[in-house]
Amino acid sequence: MTLARYATLLVLAATALSGCVTSPGGRPQLMVISPEAAIVESRRAYISTVQKLSREDRLLNDPLLADRLRTVTGRVVGEAVVRYPHTVGWQWSVALIDEPETVNAWCMAGGRMAVYSGLFERLDLTDDELAQIMSHEISHAIANHTAERMSIALVTAVGLIAADTIFDAEDRDLSRAALAANLAVSLPNSRAAESEADRLGIELAALAGYDPAAAVTLWDKMATVGGGISVPFLSTHPAPAYRRETLSGLVPEMRQLADRGTGQTHPVDIVH
Ligand SMILES: [Zn+2]
Repeated sequence: MTLARYATLLVLAATALSGCVTSPGGRPQLMVISPEAAIVESRRAYISTVQKLSREDRLLNDPLLADRLRTVTGRVVGEAVVRYPHTVGWQWSVALIDEPETVNAWCMAGGRMAVYSGLFERLDLTDDELAQIMSHEISHAIANHTAERMSIALVTAVGLIAADTIFDAEDRDLSRAALAANLAVSLPNSRAAESEADRLGIELAALAGYDPAAAVTLWDKMATVGGGISVPFLSTHPAPAYRRETLSGLVPEMRQLADRGTGQTHPVDIVH
């Protein structure tokens, strides 16, 4: 990128900053990329990612696991679209990635998700724990954390250089914003964004009928994964010591939400 082009981007960024937005948790967010643009660019980045995985035969075709994922995610999304009606038209889908050594999951703006098979291979997840993972990731997207992280990626020179070096030549056909969408899933969330997704996520899962205590056991399981297993989930989800305690403290209040859900499920496409 030329200096002039970079300077233009920074000016655009500064202009966008003057129109600040507020997250569902009441927190000011850096929003150089609008949530709508984040959805458009995430779609391009997602399609390119999934096509590449498919070409390399790295999507897992496991009908039983796909059914389980569809059921659990569908119940969480069923509550999400009622609470956040603007998400009803999102393209809710999950790519099941065949990487037994990787413990990770993410959700882009617009409801496009991925889970890595290592989550199931390494954590022996209950449905309640799986629901916590999906609802937490979904909450990041609902709270516009994708747009926020894309914004951070775009306004930092580090992000732009990283985007150029991390992704293959074919990915360079994507717009810089789509690259930022790709990069956003590998950037750590801020502590404030994590707290927000923890809170929204445990609520959504509770409304969908899943045990809030699973949010705590999930973190305990994550903490015991080792032995050369890659856990990007932990590096993109910084976990301060008080996090487990905060979630634990929310359990009694969340249990009261169990019979306030709609019991609805929403169609979720499993990409494999
Ligand atoms: Zn998170």
